[in-house]
Amino acid sequence: MADTASSVTQSVAPRGPRQYASPKLFSAQTLVHYGLHFVFPVVLALVFFPLVWQTAYLIMLATMAIDLDHLLAKPIFDPLRCSIGYHPLHSFYAVPVYALLLLLPATQIVAVGLLFHLFTDTVDCLWNFSHCRECYLNSRIYALRNRVRRLLGHEVVE
Ligand SMILES: [Zn+2]
Repeated sequence: MADTASSVTQSVAPRGPRQYASPKLFSAQTLVHYGLHFVFPVVLALVFFPLVWQTAYLIMLATMAIDLDHLLAKPIFDPLRCSIGYHPLHSFYAVPVYALLLLLPATQIVAVGLLFHLFTDTVDCLWNFSHCRECYLNSRIYALRNRVRRLLGHEVVE
């Protein structure tokens, strides 16, 4: 295990540009991201669906299936691309649909899982933006921000 880790570290570019080129395998960002995806839903299940929390947890894990929409993208995996607004099931149009599912008792657990998934991915995007301005400027979040600013009559510097 340790050998694999060190050989991976050695093969990547030197410090500095590395954080832009390839994300570290066990960075705080990765830990937080997967913690939110896999561990935090336990808390959500216990808080919102205490009587069926185990089932609720599994259903929320299953909502991770929306990441299958990444398969439509080219390249399929780009660590610095912000998924929010980019992939169809992560689009801004999907959010109100998921919010509606929240109102139906039958789909409530799924909706919590989906909305929390988008929240988790948003945290990851913002984290990337904090050290990669290109990522921010290329994101759909930035495009949406500009559209909203224009709608409000503000000037937008492209
Ligand atoms: Zn996702």
